[in-house]
Amino acid sequence: MLQVYPVLCRKGYMDNYAYVVVDEATKVTAVIDPSEAEAVIAKCEDLGLRPQFVLNTHHHFDHVDGNADIKQKYGAKIVCNAADAYRIENSEILLKPGEYFVLGASRAKIMDVSAHTKGHILYYFADDKILFTGDTLFNLCVGGLFEGSACDMFKALAKIKALPDDVVFYPGHEYTMGGARFAFEYNHGNDDIKKYLIRAKERLAQGLPVAPVSLGEEKKCNPYLEAATLEDFERL
Ligand SMILES: [Zn+2]
Repeated sequence: MLQVYPVLCRKGYMDNYAYVVVDEATKVTAVIDPSEAEAVIAKCEDLGLRPQFVLNTHHHFDHVDGNADIKQKYGAKIVCNAADAYRIENSEILLKPGEYFVLGASRAKIMDVSAHTKGHILYYFADDKILFTGDTLFNLCVGGLFEGSACDMFKALAKIKALPDDVVFYPGHEYTMGGARFAFEYNHGNDDIKKYLIRAKERLAQGLPVAPVSLGEEKKCNPYLEAATLEDFERL
């Protein structure tokens, strides 16, 4: 079983989430997208965990800036898409989409979702029904198109939509309230979006991330997942 500990980084201006993930059976630990080292190391120390791996979803600085310090402190190996190795420093474990990354007794399938950036990957722990979506899927919105087209993002989201509804996802930023107004209007203030926003506001008021949300809930409330065709998607 996988335990997930979110770490809010760059609070108030970028609101990144890094994640400390632990395979409970073996205590093998990884850090996902360490936006900054300090907050992530503090969390690992609090938990008494020594990460052996750093997993990156893509190369943007606000996802990899903590890599070097975490590698130095714990000897963690840096893991990324082989296609991104040229722009993620010191990457050592290079994965291809479709392959698995093994974390103790857990494993994550590598899914290519090139759109926000070329070579952006997701880590999908199917047995645990947990998906790390980086800057591809956020609560109620999606990532910007830095290196891909709307068509690329539509295809990337189709891969996510094909996963079971009871999979929960953990995004790379806390952007929920940024997407809330549009999602509310798009869904004509229906019960699903009302329920979603009540829960989101409660979580945020308690200083908690809105994640995890199930893909089933997200599919009902996120306009970018609701778009059935590329034409609908491009109109958003
Ligand atoms: Zn990014």
